[in-house]
Amino acid sequence: MSLEISRKGMLLVLSGPAGAGKGTLGKMLLRTDKNFYFSISATTRGPRFNETHGVDYHFLTDKEFDNLVDQNMFLEYATVHSHRYGTLKQPIVDNIEKGVDVLLDIDTQGAMNVIKAYPDCVSVFILPPSFEILEQRLHTRNTDNPDEIQKRLRNARKEIQLIDKYDYAIINNTVDLSFESLMHIVKAEKSKTKRFMPRFL
Ligand code: 5GP
Repeated sequence: MSLEISRKGMLLVLSGPAGAGKGTLGKMLLRTDKNFYFSISATTRGPRFNETHGVDYHFLTDKEFDNLVDQNMFLEYATVHSHRYGTLKQPIVDNIEKGVDVLLDIDTQGAMNVIKAYPDCVSVFILPPSFEILEQRLHTRNTDNPDEIQKRLRNARKEIQLIDKYDYAIINNTVDLSFESLMHIVKAEKSKTKRFMPRFL
């Protein structure tokens, strides 16, 4: 008799206010752990200078986005800072079944919906060390105009109140230490017995 052990993929939800650093931590995770697939969201926001269609996002028109909503293609979708963003369902289901881990970088409304729809997911809230640092980071990032930055800071206040709905939280003081914490979470979660499927052949 031989033993074959497969593992179901993990759905990892990284969420938190814009500028807290979830994007950077997510990219580090994808570079370090090659078993992770990045779920590319659809959005009606226009691309920034450093973004590529089909890599960072699927940049869609309102009508294209509406069509995907009508076809029930989204696991969740939400309006974030005046633009629509949505997580495509099928790539997630396919990858998890194959044993591939899936990373979602989504806002708190999306995270609340994913936690409800997929209670097996692992949710991590990334916190900025302070509002001052969050504001500084949004300015340094230089991707948003001042009005947009103020809108993101106002939203951050509401988002932080949802922290207790998440499995884990990381205060992103320094990116290296935060990444270390994230890797501890990922490693422990990957080792959970519920993800293992032993088969005796
Ligand atoms: P940005 O425009 O800065 O790329 O993203 C703005 C916010 O939208 C970020 O908090 C990001 O995590 C979130 N976001 C990106 N994709 C999705 C998605 O598919 N669903 C939801 N709900 N939020 C998303």
